[in-house]
Amino acid sequence: MSAARDIHFRCSACGACCDSPPAMSLPELFEHEDSFVGCIAIHGGGDTLALRTQGLERGDAGCPALDADRRCGIHTRRPAMCQAVPLDPTRPDAGQAALLEARRRQAPYAMAGCITTQATPGSRAMLIGGALVDDGDRRALARYREETARDRALWGEALRAELRRELAGQPPLGGYRTIPLVPALATLAAASASCRQRVLRYLDRQRALIARTPAAARPAELQVYARVYQRLALALQSARPAPPSPHAGAIEAHLRLAAAA
Ligand code: SF4
Ligand code: SF4
Repeated sequence: MSAARDIHFRCSACGACCDSPPAMSLPELFEHEDSFVGCIAIHGGGDTLALRTQGLERGDAGCPALDADRRCGIHTRRPAMCQAVPLDPTRPDAGQAALLEARRRQAPYAMAGCITTQATPGSRAMLIGGALVDDGDRRALARYREETARDRALWGEALRAELRRELAGQPPLGGYRTIPLVPALATLAAASASCRQRVLRYLDRQRALIARTPAAARPAELQVYARVYQRLALALQSARPAPPSPHAGAIEAHLRLAAAA
């Protein structure tokens, strides 16, 4: 299947592609701490073991940010992954044309008719001659990639190395396994007193979100998340203050602490 050289796009915000919580950087999970229960998704094994942070899938399917009319309740602040739709920032730019071609033919995009090879009323050009042409699209792709690269540098690579050691000798994981954010949060909280305060606030908000999640939407592991987050909060509250880490400034900037102050 050869990819179309020109692609136009018009989103009617029908919500059909919002069938699960999106992948988000850790700062985005902090920003949306009242909407998504954050988790780390792990897949593969050995050299191919990969991690990403995202909202935990709910028992009732669908993204928890969808409102009763199936509109995005956080549209103006939606995560970079959603701003990039129907592109995918986890793929290189060279792979976006093939992705758009595949999505153009696949549900839910095909049913919505939002990806077309010809301009339609209200559409905008996304790909011309096989190249991305919209600055907003480029910014959304770049934002996701930059923030997840910082996540990898600040805590992700160390966790990946630890998991590779733990899973050595086991077959690669089929599909994704999700775990609470505890290892990432513990690393970030250790960076400085303000990081610890921010992580404590996040743990508080996540436990409150879990407590108000309706039973029908509650995946079985949610109670485990509530327990381990409470345990981490108690450990952080009782820990003796340590000197700030050499990465404190970078981590505080990554968590947007100055912006939140
Ligand atoms: S399926 Fe298409 S039109 Fe509907 S919300 Fe997704 S991108 Fe927009
Ligand atoms: S955050 Fe909004 S745009 Fe993104 S998947 Fe959820 S409802 Fe859809």
